[in-house]
Amino acid sequence: MNDVLLSATNLTKSFGGFVAVDDVNLHVKRGQIHALIGPNGAGKTTCFNLLTKFLTPTHGTISYKGHDITAMSPADIARLGIVRSFQISAVFPHLTALENVCIALQRQRGDSFDFWRSQKVLLQFNDEACALLEDVGLSEFRDVHAADLSYGRKRALEIATTLAVDPDMLLLDEPMAGMAQADVERISELIRRISVNRTILMVEHNLSVVATLSDTISVLARGKVLAEGDYATVSQDARVIEAYIGE
Ligand code: ADP
Repeated sequence: MNDVLLSATNLTKSFGGFVAVDDVNLHVKRGQIHALIGPNGAGKTTCFNLLTKFLTPTHGTISYKGHDITAMSPADIARLGIVRSFQISAVFPHLTALENVCIALQRQRGDSFDFWRSQKVLLQFNDEACALLEDVGLSEFRDVHAADLSYGRKRALEIATTLAVDPDMLLLDEPMAGMAQADVERISELIRRISVNRTILMVEHNLSVVATLSDTISVLARGKVLAEGDYATVSQDARVIEAYIGE
């Protein structure tokens, strides 16, 4: 099981008497894009929150690179190289794309943001920040305030600030939510590009995105894993079809 980076074993979360995640086993392999899908109420968000340590499991364990991380905090696991996008990295709307990435780089080095030093920070991290903006296709928007970027480009900027941490593993919570088709294509391409030397676990509703991007898909329904495999396999599974039809 050397190729498994993150795994959940018998993961269970109850809210009162209601079991939202029920004995889930999940193995995310190194270098893969792994998608967690399922109808509404399946337990995807709860599962994602358990894996990123925003919720504590009722039962079960989570391990990363073979080490038990069940008791760790989100900050602890971020230090291990597991980063949840759109949560840990905040984008400041009144700052430019370049300034946002410089600040993310500065925070990564352990400094807290200090506004009066921002010109110095810009100089110090300029080249690295420009490279990250290029990676996410935002070079020409470097001097645009985050507030003035389109929704899709704002998400690309959020990904750039996340990449400043240089994570081994990225967890993306519905990266395509609320996006126009052109942005969906741009962000899909970006996810594919940043996955080259990283492992990605994403919760995503857009099944055509899941079909084209994912190596492995886990289908959840009523808190349990119904099926796992590539898109061709899970999309033909009678239990999966039934779960989606019943949505
Ligand atoms: P999904 O993301 O797949 O739509 P969720 O993980 O958000 O599903 O929710 C799974 C089930 O758990 C739902 O029935 C939801 O109402 C319930 N649930 C989620 N969070 C809580 C909570 N904090 N308290 C009680 N029930 C919850």
